[in-house]
Parts: sequence; structure tokens; C-alpha cells
Amino acid sequence: MTADLDRPAPDRPALPLRPEIVGLEPYGAPQLDVPYRLNVNENPYPPSEAVVADVAAAVTEATRGLNRYPDRDFLALREDLAAYLLVESGVRLAPEQLWAANGSNEVMLHLLQAFGGPGRTALSFAPTYSMYPEYARDTSTGWVLGRREEDFSLDPDEARATIRRHAPSVVLLASPNNPTGTALPASTVLAVLDEAARIPGGCVVVVDEAYGEFRRRGTPSALELLADHPHLAVSRTMSKAFGLAGARVGYLAAAPALVDALRVVRLPYHLSGVTQAVARAALAHSGELMAQVGALREERDALVGWLRERGLQVADSDANFVLFGTFDDRSALWQGLLERGVLIREVGPPGWLRVSVGTPHETQAFKDALVEVAGL
Ligand SMILES: *Cc1c(COP(=O)(O)O)cnc(C)c1O
Repeated sequence: MTADLDRPAPDRPALPLRPEIVGLEPYGAPQLDVPYRLNVNENPYPPSEAVVADVAAAVTEATRGLNRYPDRDFLALREDLAAYLLVESGVRLAPEQLWAANGSNEVMLHLLQAFGGPGRTALSFAPTYSMYPEYARDTSTGWVLGRREEDFSLDPDEARATIRRHAPSVVLLASPNNPTGTALPASTVLAVLDEAARIPGGCVVVVDEAYGEFRRRGTPSALELLADHPHLAVSRTMSKAFGLAGARVGYLAAAPALVDALRVVRLPYHLSGVTQAVARAALAHSGELMAQVGALREERDALVGWLRERGLQVADSDANFVLFGTFDDRSALWQGLLERGVLIREVGPPGWLRVSVGTPHETQAFKDALVEVAGL
């Protein structure tokens, strides 16, 4: 098929692909049907029957109005998100400070559509989330990677120097970072915000807190810095802690002027009435979901301890996954686990592997397989 499409013929003209996507494959982790899927940091617990019932009822109600376009500005959902963040992080936000889209992936795209573009640069610090360069590419934004330290932390002076050197219009900081699990201290985020504020023409700092709910006690959220920083955006998602990856709901908090810029570039009615209804029904259950997050955090800390006891290197984790290593042949290890029904992720610096925190039963299956394959 592909070969045919690649070959121009008089009756089949070549497709005018943008040069930067010629020969590229769609990105994505393998979706394999195996017993233990611990590779994309999903919440291992499906929604409770109470959540299922309320979501279903909300969808039924929304369906009655599907002849109409949905609320373009989804104000009710933005109010619910603000109420949730007040409880989760203790930060009071107005609905005008919230934005949502089909996954935080789309929120990021909106950010780069509004603040990136040709002749501009987006900057992040490696190792980090592998989707960021794709958003840059798709918005014709230049892409630059600074570096993190050996322990995956970000040195504030190094970060400042990198920002000065490249004068980006967008800086992307994942905290907790994927694939390392590393959260940034407020002092580092403040250093980045300060340096970004010095860039002529401006620079938006995006803190991607997709795993924010899993942060350890005492780790701050960048939401606390919003009041004093109009060039800060903090993105979150319902895909991880909320166990709603299939619903595709991500969101962001920022100053109203920043949110207004995103409203300009979004597609009309980008958030369907069904999606809005699902998100609101799930948010009404945030209390019980947060209890589950507490259990996952404990499971994570126990897993970190177990891996270290076996002499492995493990990155400190504020997320629902653990990066561990190092292995001379990580591909062989990954394959060995897969043969035992355990799918993890081959990602991160050479020699490291990432495993998502599952149910106790799934974690046990991972441990058993690892002991067998790695001979721990
Ligand atoms: C999983 C993840 C997201 C969430 O993406 P959604 O589109 O909301 O599902 C965002 N950022 C990072 C770093 C992630 O790992």
C-alpha cells in the first residue's frame, strides 16, 4: 500500500505532504492485548459502578440535546474544574482561568497554536515527554531541548542559561516529569518564570502536571504560582488520576488573558456535549477517586522500595509510574516481561525502563516476571 502511494504515476499524483512529515509514522506506544498492561500510566481501576451509573445518566441527558451544538465555552465544566482544583490544591481560581480540550494533548496544541508558530521556538528539558516535539512540528514551531541533570532534576542556572540562549516563546516543563517521575521544586519553576519574563516579546511557561495528583506530600503544585505570573499555564488531565483516559479530557489553568488566546485558536465546538457531560459527572465523584489515588501512591512508594532493595537504580517518583534500571540490554528485558504477559515501556535514557503502578495483583505479576527475567 505505502509503496504504491509513494510512487507517483500519471493517474495517481503524489500527495503534497509537508516536508517535515514525509516518511513519518504515527506516534504511539504499542497497544497489545496482554494480561498486565503497565505501559501508558493509565489508572488500573475502572470507574466504580456509582461513577458508571452517574456518567451513563449524564450522557443520556446530554443525548437529548445532541441536535444542538454544545456550549462552546463549557462554563459549567470550567466551574466544576475550578471547584475541584480548590479542593485538590487549595488554589482558588475563577472559571475564566480554566480551559479544557480533548485531552491535555489538545490543550498543548492550543498553547502552541497561540504562542508558537513559524520563526518561534518551544523549549523543554530532556529526558521528557516524547509528544512535545510533535506539537511543535505540527504548529511549525522550532523545537529545542535543554538538559536535565544525571538525577533528572533541573538545575535552575542551567535552565536560565538555556532560556537566555534560545529565547523561546514557550517553555514546557513536565512536573512530575514523564518518563522520570521527577517533580520540580517551586524555586526552579520560579527561576524559569523569572527568566522567561525577561524575553523580549514574551514567553509562556507551561507546567504540565498530568501526574500532579500523585505528587508526594509536601511537593507543591505550580497552581500556587498562578496569581503572580500571567505568563504561566498549568495543565492537568482526567486521563491519569481520574481514570478517565478513554473520555479524553484535559484542562489548564492560567490568567484569563492567556485563556482568551486559546479560545481564538480552538476549533469551534471542540469539546462535545457528551464529553462535557462525562467530565462533569466524573468530577462529582472526585472524593472517592482521590482516595484511590492515595492507594496508588502507597503502591508506588512500595514498588520503589522493592526495586531498590534488589539493587536497582530507581528515580524518585511523584507520579503513578517508576523509572528503573539500568540494564545492558533493556530490550531483552522488556521482551522477557512481555513473554510473561507483562507489558511495560521501553523509554527514557539508555538502560532504563518505565513501569506504571497497577493494582496490587498486577504489581505482583510484574515483580514475579522481573525476578525471573532479570534473575534478581
Ligand atoms: C499522559 C500524559 C498527558 C496526558 O495526556 P492526555 O491527552 O490528557 O491523555 C500529558 N502530559 C504528559 C507528560 C503525560 O504523560
